[in-house]
Amino acid sequence: MISMHQLTKVYDMGDLRVTALKNISFEVAAGDFVAIMGSSGSGKSTLLNILGCLDRFDSGSYRLKGTEVHRRGDDELATIRNREIGFVFQNFNLLPRKTALQNVALPLLYRRERQIDLQRAASMLRRVGLGDRMHHRPMELSGGQCQRVAIARALINEPAIILADEPTGNLDSTTSADIMALFVELNEAGHTLVMVTHEEEIAAYASRTVRLKDGEIFAEEHRQTHA
Ligand code: ADP
Ligand code: MG
Repeated sequence: MISMHQLTKVYDMGDLRVTALKNISFEVAAGDFVAIMGSSGSGKSTLLNILGCLDRFDSGSYRLKGTEVHRRGDDELATIRNREIGFVFQNFNLLPRKTALQNVALPLLYRRERQIDLQRAASMLRRVGLGDRMHHRPMELSGGQCQRVAIARALINEPAIILADEPTGNLDSTTSADIMALFVELNEAGHTLVMVTHEEEIAAYASRTVRLKDGEIFAEEHRQTHA
């Protein structure tokens, strides 16, 4: 599904250049659940943003479902992103004035579907256990519920891969465990997941952990079963 080879990313700020990723090579197969770990500044978010076609890189290659991402123009990149990637963020990134249902339906707008399929959005909300919260706004929901809305939104276009950047970073440990149980359930249903975290307990839910240090992969572990 994903194949990265010798990828390097440099942030160039004139007189200051930061090499955020150095010669990163790794693969993600369909159905994998990968945790990316590393201390602050190690390059985790940069890697996730490149995986999600939100950011470009300087050298190396990145293939997503056989497409060489580096050679695509901005419009084409946006199309790949909207079709193939679902994002989940630490801060949920929900629109505060929209209901749960409207937030979940939002990505459909970018597909220029003439009729926004609210039935599909509603079924996604039921799938994440929020069938009774469709018309609530984010302020009327708990943090865990907001993250469930964000996960339903990430699923709506049936993306090839779901990317999550510190998805439990703003949640207490009980709620974090609930969210991870949902991720495990999605993974067992066939979804491919790549998640950034700096917590070992959270990474333990993934079947594979990739450890970054100063922009380089320095360790990789596989687990037989989910935590
Ligand atoms: P992490 O998510 O692991 O904390 P990041 O990927 O955010 O790490 O950052 C990796 C390195 O790249 C850090 O040194 C950071 O300061 C730098 N960096 C990240 N984003 C930018 C940016 N937009 N401009 C310049 N430097 C950046
Ligand atoms: Mg980060």
